[in-house]
Amino acid sequence: MMGDAMPDRSNTRRDFLKPTRAGDDRCADSTGVPVGGNTVRVATRAMACEFSVIMNPGSHEHVSTVGDVLEMVHEIEGWLSVYKPNSEISQTNLHAAMSPFKLRPALYDLLKTAQGLHQQTDRAFDIAAGAQVRLWRDCRAEQRIPTAEELDAVLARSGSHHFELNDEASTVTFGIDGLQLDPGAIGKGFALDEAAAWLNKAEDGPKSYLVHGGQSSLVARGQHNNESGWPVGVGNPLFTKKRLGTVLLRDQAMSTSGSNIQFFRHEGRRYGHILDPRTAMPVEGMLSVTVLADSAAVADALSTAFFVLGVENARMCCDNLPNVGAILVPFPESGKRVTPTVIGVPFDQIFWDKEQVTV
Ligand code: ADP
Ligand code: MG
Repeated sequence: MMGDAMPDRSNTRRDFLKPTRAGDDRCADSTGVPVGGNTVRVATRAMACEFSVIMNPGSHEHVSTVGDVLEMVHEIEGWLSVYKPNSEISQTNLHAAMSPFKLRPALYDLLKTAQGLHQQTDRAFDIAAGAQVRLWRDCRAEQRIPTAEELDAVLARSGSHHFELNDEASTVTFGIDGLQLDPGAIGKGFALDEAAAWLNKAEDGPKSYLVHGGQSSLVARGQHNNESGWPVGVGNPLFTKKRLGTVLLRDQAMSTSGSNIQFFRHEGRRYGHILDPRTAMPVEGMLSVTVLADSAAVADALSTAFFVLGVENARMCCDNLPNVGAILVPFPESGKRVTPTVIGVPFDQIFWDKEQVTV
C-alpha cells in the first residue's frame, strides 16, 4: 500500500509543521493510572483537522521523516477528497457507472477493505452511501429534513454491494447509476495506517510514536513514559472537557464516533451526521463509540458501524472480528454519569475516571 514515491519537496507545507516540546495532558493523573510525560510533536492541517505525530523526548532527529509522512497525508487527501472535483474518488463517482474505472492501488485496497467491512457489519458501514450523506448535508444547509421521496431515491442509489472490484485490472464498476462513494467514515483512519506503515518502513523513523488524525482517530506504536504502550484519554461525550478514562494502547489504533459535535436541530429534534445506510436516516441511539483495532481504517469504520448497530448487534459483530475491542457509551438513564459497555478490551488496558463513569 505504501508504494508511492516520496512527496515532492518543492511544494512543501513544511512551514506549517511546528515541532514543539509540550507536557502531555492526555492522561488522567491518579494512582495506578498510566500518565503521559514530555513529548515532541509535529503537526499539520489536513482532511479538515489537525494531523500530528507525537514522539518521545529526544526524537528531534526524526522530525524530517515525520514531516515527509505528514506531507503524504496531504497527498492522500488530494485523491481521496470528495470535496475536490478532480480527485480520483470524485472522478470515480463520475465515471465508474459507465465502464470499469482504473484505480491507484491504495484506493483499490481501500475500497476492498470497505466492501469487506460492509458485509461484516451487516451493512451498517457503507462507503457507497454518498448519495444519502449528500442529501442530508444539503438539507442541513437548507434547515429541513428530506422528503420520503428523496429518501427512497437515495436509498436506491446506495450500497457497497452495488460496486464490483476487479483484482487483476484494479478497477471498480458501479452496477447502478448515481452510486456515490463517500470515505468520510474511513478516510482518516486509512491515512493514519498509511502514515504508520511509512514510519515503520523508514530507516530513520521513530520506533515509538502516536499519530493523531483530529480528535477522533489515532494509531500508536511502541512505548511512552515507561508504560507498556501509549496512554490516551477517552473523552466524555457529555462534557467535552472531561474524560471518561485512559486507555493504554499497545501497537493499536483507536477511533471514536459520536453525534454530539456534528448535528443539526429541526423542530426540536437532533439529527446527527452518522446515518443508518439501510434506512438513510440519522442514528441517535448512543452518545459515543470507541473502537480499538490493529488497523486505524478498521477502527474508524467500525466506530461508525457500531454507533449504527447499537450495543447488542455491535457485540455480535465484535465477536466475529479478531483483535477488535469497543467501548460503547449509551445515553445515561438518569444523572450525569455514563455507564459504558466494554467489549473485548482487556481490563488492564482501561483506567476509568470514577467520577464520570459507573462501571
Ligand atoms: P468523524 O468524521 O466525526 O470522526 P465518522 O468517522 O463516524 O465521524 O464518520 C462520519 C462521516 O462518514 C459522515 O460525515 C459521513 O460522511 C459518513 N457516514 C455517515 N454514516 C455512515 C455510515 N453508516 N457508513 C459509512 N459512512 C458514513
Ligand atoms: Mg468512523
